[in-house]
Parts: sequence; structure tokens; C-alpha cells
Amino acid sequence: MNTTLRLSPDAAGIARAAALLRAGALVAFPTETVYGLGGAATIDAAVRGIYEAKGRPGHNPLIVHVPDLAAAERLAVFDDQARALARAFWPGPLTLVLPLRTGAGLSPRITAGHPTVAIRVPAHPLAQALLRETGLPVAAPSANPSGKISPTTADHVLDGLSGRIAAVLDGGPCAVGVESTILAPGTPPRLLRPGGVTAEDLARVLGTLPIRPEDAARPEAPGQLASHYAPEAAVRLNATAPQTGEIWVGFGPCAGAALSLSESGNLDEAAARLFDVLRRADRLAGPGGRIAIAPVPMTGLGLAINDRLGRAAAPRP
Ligand code: AMP
Ligand code: MG
Repeated sequence: MNTTLRLSPDAAGIARAAALLRAGALVAFPTETVYGLGGAATIDAAVRGIYEAKGRPGHNPLIVHVPDLAAAERLAVFDDQARALARAFWPGPLTLVLPLRTGAGLSPRITAGHPTVAIRVPAHPLAQALLRETGLPVAAPSANPSGKISPTTADHVLDGLSGRIAAVLDGGPCAVGVESTILAPGTPPRLLRPGGVTAEDLARVLGTLPIRPEDAARPEAPGQLASHYAPEAAVRLNATAPQTGEIWVGFGPCAGAALSLSESGNLDEAAARLFDVLRRADRLAGPGGRIAIAPVPMTGLGLAINDRLGRAAAPRP
């Protein structure tokens, strides 16, 4: 297929990326969480192309990205709680699942038959500039083949999708490093995916911790399937020492670890490095190899990190 352009993070690169998106082409771009695989959410052929490029099952709906709350209110119905969450955390790594507004004009594939739509306002300056210049809502799942490790650099995007998308806007590494938190507001509010906004942060606005619906065979966030973020190597969790032949990934002091999520045991750093370290460990482990990962605490971003690690270690389909 065609070669994928690498666009520079300047006015010319943003203008080119926006023109491609308006023409229905696919463009990966950086957000503060991970790189997104962007396509105009109002152009059905573009949305179909996202599913094809990723090999994503059609029942797994997409998150729509817009530059601000006003644009989000044109697509979804907000109540007071949803608006309070948006005011507190947007722009930022929080996705809200809200009733789809009649006449929103989105491709029906975006919601995969659900009466709700998932929306986010990213904080990354390049994502903001791109969304404003494009002037359309942009669907953007993570820019990786479905089920594989998410991308936090333009090179990661090209590793998985080169030749399958028109371009990648190269903004360097992503600061947060794990995907957005997905929350369905309501009574009680439900945490559909832990992510860049912590449950503790949400509780400060909600007045209560969101509940975590149990993972199910057909989960409510349909992308939350057991095996995801999977390296080629087998993954063992909570490893306090490596076994023979394992590549040990440390967190905090771990003498003899091949790689570390954070030598100082910092969860923000571990989240930012997570997907790159998994990719490196996979290369070191080689075909049929094994990775062992040190325990990571369940506080703050640790909830999102452990969620991704659990899926990376899950039995493969
Ligand atoms: P990704 O695009 O890889 O960040 O994954 C997006 C996640 O958002 C998946 O887990 C989807 O299942 C979830 N999602 C998207 N739309 C909805 C929706 N309307 N209701 C619940 N979850 C959604
Ligand atoms: Mg993904």
C-alpha cells in the first residue's frame, strides 16, 4: 500500500493532517495519553477505515475527540454531573460515556449500536490544534493493531500501522502514557476503564468513588476484553525475582532487572514508560520468550497500570 507520511509538529504538519482528515483519510496524532488513530467521525468511510486498519472488531465502539465542552455538547446530552466532570477534567485524560444527541451526525459505526457515545477533550497542544483546524469531531482509538501494545511514540505507530494509514503527526513521546479513564456518569457513576485520571481524583468531584463493574464476557465497555496490550512473549506478574530465562521488568529497587518501569518507584513515570518498556522487553525476550514484571501498587495511576498489565498477561484468544 502507500507509504505513511511522518508529519512534523508545526503549522504545516498540522494543516496537512487536518486536510487529510477532512478528506476522509486516517492520521495518527499524539495525545497526552497515547497516540490516537484519527478519522473524521462524521465520514462513514473514514470510520470504517479505522476498524480495518486496526483489525478492530466492529462491536467495539470508538471514542470521539473534540476540542472543548461546547463541541462535546453538540454530540451528547450532558446533565449537571457530566458537566461538573467535564469542567474539572477537560481538557485531559477522561472519557465520558453519555447519551448520544439526536442528529449528532456521527457515523453509526462510532457507537456500534449503543445509545451512548464516548467523548473526550484531549489536552495535548498538537491534538488541540489539529481538532480545531479540522473542524470535525475525530474518532481516535489507540493507533495500534487491535489487541497489541498501545503506542506512545510515532515510531510505535509506524511499527504497527505503516502502510495502513495516510500519516502520523510526530509529537514525540506521550506524557501520561496510559489511555484515558472511561467513566459512565450516573448514580452510581461507573468506572468502565481505569486510566490517566485516577479514581481518587474522580471521587473529589463525584463525592463518591465510582463503582467498577465486573469484567464480563460482554462487558459494558466492549473493548475491555481480557487479553489486550499483549506482547508476543508470555507475561508473569507480581514477580519479586526472575526465573531462569525471564526478562525481569522492575518497579522501584530491583537489583538485576533488565528494564525498569521506574527505578524510584514513581507511578507517573511508570505509566509514561509502560508501553515502551513492554515493547523493549518483548524484543529482549525474543520469539517464545517470557517476561516477568515486579509488583506495582494499586494506588493512583497504579490502578490503570495494573489493569493494562493484567490484560497483557491474560491467556490469549
Ligand atoms: P481505545 O479506542 O483503544 O482507547 O478503546 C476505547 C474504549 O472505549 C473501548 O474500551 C470501548 O469499548 C470504549 N467505549 C467506546 N464507546 C463506548 C460506549 N458508548 N460505551 C461504553 N464504552 C465505550
Ligand atoms: Mg486501544
